[in-house]
Amino acid sequence: MIKLSIGWNFKNSYIQLPPKMYTLLNPTPVEAPKAVIINECLAQELGLSNNELQSSGGIEILAGNEVPEGAEPLAQAYAGHQFGHFNRLGDGRAILLGEHMTPNGERFDIQLKGSGRTPYSRGGDGRAALGPMLREYLISEAMFGLRIPTTRSLAVVETGETIIRDRLLPGAILTRVAQSHLRVGTFQFIAQFGTYDEAKVLADYAINRHYPEVLLDDQPYLAFFKEVIKKQASLIAKWQLVGFVHGVMNTDNMTISGETIDYGPCAFMDTYHLATVFSSIDYQGRYEYGNQPYMASWNLARLAESILPLLNEDEEQALKLAKEALSTFATLYQHNWREGMKGKLGLVGDEDGDEELVKELLDLMQEGKADYTNTFRSLTLDLFDEMKLFQTNSFKDWYHKWQERLKIQQESNDVIKERMRKHNPAIIPRNYLVEEALQAAEMNKDLSKINELLNVFKNPYAYTKDQEKYAKLPPVTDEPYQTFCGT
Ligand code: AMP
Ligand code: MG
Repeated sequence: MIKLSIGWNFKNSYIQLPPKMYTLLNPTPVEAPKAVIINECLAQELGLSNNELQSSGGIEILAGNEVPEGAEPLAQAYAGHQFGHFNRLGDGRAILLGEHMTPNGERFDIQLKGSGRTPYSRGGDGRAALGPMLREYLISEAMFGLRIPTTRSLAVVETGETIIRDRLLPGAILTRVAQSHLRVGTFQFIAQFGTYDEAKVLADYAINRHYPEVLLDDQPYLAFFKEVIKKQASLIAKWQLVGFVHGVMNTDNMTISGETIDYGPCAFMDTYHLATVFSSIDYQGRYEYGNQPYMASWNLARLAESILPLLNEDEEQALKLAKEALSTFATLYQHNWREGMKGKLGLVGDEDGDEELVKELLDLMQEGKADYTNTFRSLTLDLFDEMKLFQTNSFKDWYHKWQERLKIQQESNDVIKERMRKHNPAIIPRNYLVEEALQAAEMNKDLSKINELLNVFKNPYAYTKDQEKYAKLPPVTDEPYQTFCGT
């Protein structure tokens, strides 16, 4: 145990859950830890001392070589439907150090990802490669900049060890910070392998941690389920509105808190198309862009099944309550999406034909193979010479309708444009930019591009001159962009 004044303040509650839900286990030490990137802003928000965090003792902790005072490291057990198939899972390459309390009383899970084998590793090596960990760091922080609920990344450290994938790669560990790591799959695990009482303990735990307000409700477990539905309906709408595609929306990758988690196979869509898929193993398009809201609802149905006995003693009654609650997802999602899309077009109020106006534009974009982000950026900036789409007669007709609709609001152009800037990011982490930055980091140990992107994606809604070069489209290629899981 080392004594440092980093500021870690662990108060661990997960450990009080039924023992079958975790295995107490320290991270496996690594040979030669070295800091690659440290999130100084996040460290500060967490109440940590950056100097101490970045000292050699601080890095030993982030590499899993030392366990900080107060931590009680464990690997969590969970289950999940992976591409529709139920599997018993768990942290196969991650260790929860514990829950850190910030100076203003907020509780965050501190997890080391890539920290060695666990009883849940199922043949895997328990390790992670530098590239994918930097990718998670970059994309999760960009999501935070886009104001989308997400787990955060505190650090990436190199292990000094080599790991084997399709070639030899440098090993790395990511420190992930989350409101919690409770997943739909955590509830599936207890429903399948636990008792009624254990399911109740887990639900009470999740309620206390994330939704204490439902304790006032007559039916707290039903109210809890409804809150999770609300959070997910909001989250998935936010993803869709910025063109984010989560490549592996398995139930073990869907949080109870409503944070985006697990940035393995995921990416932002360039050209607008509902059938956009990024994951290399998603042959059927289960998690394609246009399917994500349906998959969220499917995942929530799995959560409902897992807590069914808590909803009512009578199975039929429980099923009825679950179905009623679940049916609100579509309405809530649609509402969030419609409001978000209206914001992207600068619209306020409700007029007949608003939804058609949005859909017509999206259809034109799909037909004309227009870039999703840049179409809205151009509409925001009145840059009509930039894209082919804008030269078509069908777009000109649409534009006329849009302008007529805006007139009803009787607002100044400035007000409308300001609303549009708030809803339309000027830039997104384009796949080619992300790949370039990762390659420089992996091949040449050059972190400058990653740091540059992290900086520019802190405020994607800023519309500054500096951002212009990041709005450029990738060079045209026939190869679809693919991302990988378990890397
Ligand atoms: P993911 O696709 O990243 O959500 O991972 C699915 C499951 O596989 C989780 O239980 C992970 O912990 C596990 N897993 C992924 N990569 C590895 C690895 N290299 N070693 C052990 N387990 C892994
Ligand atoms: Mg996962």
